[in-house]
Amino acid sequence: MVKEVLLATRNQGKIREFATLLSPVFERLTSLRELYSVPDIVEDEKTFKENALKKARIISGLTKKITLADDSGLEVESLGGRPGVFSSRYAGEKACDKENIKKLLKELKGVGDRRARFVCTLALVFPDGLTGLTASGREIVVEGRCDGIIVDDPRGESGFGYDPVFLVPQKNKTMAELTPEEKNQISHRALAVRKLIMCLNNLGINK
Ligand code: IMP
Repeated sequence: MVKEVLLATRNQGKIREFATLLSPVFERLTSLRELYSVPDIVEDEKTFKENALKKARIISGLTKKITLADDSGLEVESLGGRPGVFSSRYAGEKACDKENIKKLLKELKGVGDRRARFVCTLALVFPDGLTGLTASGREIVVEGRCDGIIVDDPRGESGFGYDPVFLVPQKNKTMAELTPEEKNQISHRALAVRKLIMCLNNLGINK
């Protein structure tokens, strides 16, 4: 029933993971990498949910396409949940993954409590008129979480973002040491996608 979904991101790491995770549900995924005319949406809300909904609503409004936005990030217990919604720009507006990790490890120097979690909130917005859903059914929001420990020495080449310093205790490996298949079984993004698929099935919307 839903043939095409627009992913409201230009992040190559996210796009790669979504392509695998969402292939059972949607026939075609496009992303903002293919739609240069869509402006960057400022993520200035206080929560992952508000940011994800903001992105999905604006972009679906502009493109009239069914739009899926992901707002995700790392919450570190001893930092009171930081970097949180600032995860991608923790070390500055244009910071790269390595710079963000460097800043995080500096802040955690000598800190004993290394507990952290990845959080992913997904917002799927159907533009008006495309489906027979009720108003409340035009937006679906789900969240996935994955608990871990921040290690001092980055390890592994896979994944993106904070993966090299995020130890998954049950695997005794960092996220970046897991294969993409292993990450897609346990990640915050995978859990959120599973919930989204359940919602779509309940609404009778699937491939
Ligand atoms: P945003 O959702 O585009 O605001 O950015 C999310 C940021 O959170 C990314 O740039 C990463 O720094 C971090 N992040 C989100 N998901 C992951 C993940 O699966 N692995 C590692 N870092 C992640």
